[in-house]
Amino acid sequence: MRRRALLFSAVSVVGAPAGAAARLPVVASFSILADMAREVGGPGVAVRALVPADSDPHVYEPRPSDLQAIRAAALVVTNGLGLEGWLARLLPASGTTAPVVVAAAGVAPRRLGAGVDPHAWQDPRNGVLYVHAIAEGLAGVAPGEAAAIRARAADYVRRITELDGWIAAQVATVPPERRRILTSHDAFGYFGARYGIAFIGVQGLDTAAEPSAAGIAALVRQIRALGITAVFVETMTSPRLARTVARDSGAVLGGEVYADALSPPGGPADSYLSMFRHNVGLFVAAMRAG
Ligand SMILES: [Zn+2]
Repeated sequence: MRRRALLFSAVSVVGAPAGAAARLPVVASFSILADMAREVGGPGVAVRALVPADSDPHVYEPRPSDLQAIRAAALVVTNGLGLEGWLARLLPASGTTAPVVVAAAGVAPRRLGAGVDPHAWQDPRNGVLYVHAIAEGLAGVAPGEAAAIRARAADYVRRITELDGWIAAQVATVPPERRRILTSHDAFGYFGARYGIAFIGVQGLDTAAEPSAAGIAALVRQIRALGITAVFVETMTSPRLARTVARDSGAVLGGEVYADALSPPGGPADSYLSMFRHNVGLFVAAMRAG
């Protein structure tokens, strides 16, 4: 620990622009984890997301600059639960010796089919576990900042917990039999389990999977049988399939929600917290209308 901290100090002093304080280089696998690391790390960290805003972490193709960023990082933050299959080769190839935080390590995973559902961050209570894991990772590589890191984490957890209560109150305004939503992939299982909403995916868990014509026809029958009236599309996936299913089933296309990626800065879901506010506003409005 001491050796790593000393090494890092040398790197950051050399790499820092004149007049700027040295910032701890942190790499997060995708935009939601990057936002959490910025919240917890504060102004002392420089966080880079490998998979950028509006992009799909399931099928990412790493760039050469990603290898350099990982090599230079003091800490790497990943989700785990099989989300970032592309990271398994990237990490050893980078030659990094930085600690790797697996943010979902403390989560009780949901089973989905034969696999594990990686979208644990969509339950804010799991988000709290993520924040604690990230805070401990940061404190480990910046022991001098540990107290400030844990204080920011505690404040962030308070805001996440408040948001969780707000979401539960919003969903409580919808009659239970109307809590039925169709999305473009199975990303909201944890969210639905937390708040008592049934989510059905247009396609399988992995966004790389393309359903057959027979699969689409079966889904349309399922939508009608369940009385689902709204279909939601995630920004990172092609909306074409959801449009087809909505048209064929007579359901309404309900709006763009964010599952696995934030919007760029200034967009409607440019933080973990604003992502929930945006999604919940659309979900609740559609369920109440339906
Ligand atoms: Zn996903």
